[in-house]
Amino acid sequence: MNAIPPTVHALMNAHPVVDVHSDYAIELYRAEQEGRPDALLTEHVPVLRQGGISMEVLTVGGDFEIGALELWDMGLVLRILDATRRQIDAHEECGIILSAEDLTRAELRTGIQLMLALEGIRCVEDVAALRFLHAAGIRAVILTHNERNLAADGCGESSPGGLSNFGRRIVREIRDLGMVFDLVHLSDPSFFDALEYYDLPPMVSHSNARALCAHRRNLTDEQIRMIGERDGVIGLNFLGMFITEDYRAATVDHLANHAAHIAEIAGPSCLALGPDYADYYMDAMRSWLLRDGLPSDLLTFAAGAETAAQLPVFIEALLRRGFSESDLTGILGGNALRLYRTVFSSSSTETAFTSSSTE
Ligand SMILES: [Zn+2]
Repeated sequence: MNAIPPTVHALMNAHPVVDVHSDYAIELYRAEQEGRPDALLTEHVPVLRQGGISMEVLTVGGDFEIGALELWDMGLVLRILDATRRQIDAHEECGIILSAEDLTRAELRTGIQLMLALEGIRCVEDVAALRFLHAAGIRAVILTHNERNLAADGCGESSPGGLSNFGRRIVREIRDLGMVFDLVHLSDPSFFDALEYYDLPPMVSHSNARALCAHRRNLTDEQIRMIGERDGVIGLNFLGMFITEDYRAATVDHLANHAAHIAEIAGPSCLALGPDYADYYMDAMRSWLLRDGLPSDLLTFAAGAETAAQLPVFIEALLRRGFSESDLTGILGGNALRLYRTVFSSSSTETAFTSSSTE
């Protein structure tokens, strides 16, 4: 491993560093159940600090399971949401991002700022449930995990379609509420449909380039171009299987190639960090892999950057790959914060409670 040059630490200390996709809220709830009620402050914040991360977007539920936790169950989503909000509120150094005003704290790199997201809306059976979750603090929505739900087909469906009429109503509501719309995990037809119904800058929080690694979870060059044209943001995923065909051999330099490829098509201002770390609940993930007959080491991350604490290793690879310091401040967090600010500044309370009844 190369030594981290002082430039990298100086950049990461001076600018906001945003992880645009993490499942840590689920671990936080699991920890609480296991008698570790303060995991956010005692276990997670130290890791974030070590990695230089000042803001993180946390998934509180979705169309997938972690161990025995079926994360599409609305009761469970509410318990995870409740545990997360309680732990954030309990500590002065942590804050929740609910509005454009709150983003100023993230932009100034004040403490650790957290935003809450939903990764698949199977728990949302009508638009009212989405409004309720917004009121409870959710600010980013992914429509599906890899499978089909009432709203849309995910990228794991073998003959995927696009959005259902219900899905379209949900997307309009996401837009009217001024929520971040995250197109990750969608099938290709759903991706293109989604862009028709959402006119704000779109997020794809944890995907790489399909041209460099032909995985269904990655984005085609056309999709990357469309995200760039809409001033959207793509969070780079650090999981080996989304980086190279031989996932065990993935390095930070391979991942930097994805960054360079995406930047070549859509400019460096569309890049962000969406590592999708899972080191903290690997025990639960291994039992899931075993059950599905998948290799037990499938969740191997880019060598040297396997946990949030090692994020600087990848930033050093980007520097070596030729990204400028100004590109890097954008990738570290500036680009994601620009998108969040644009989206939060455009919520329309007049339309938020009327548009769903018109279709
Ligand atoms: Zn995901």
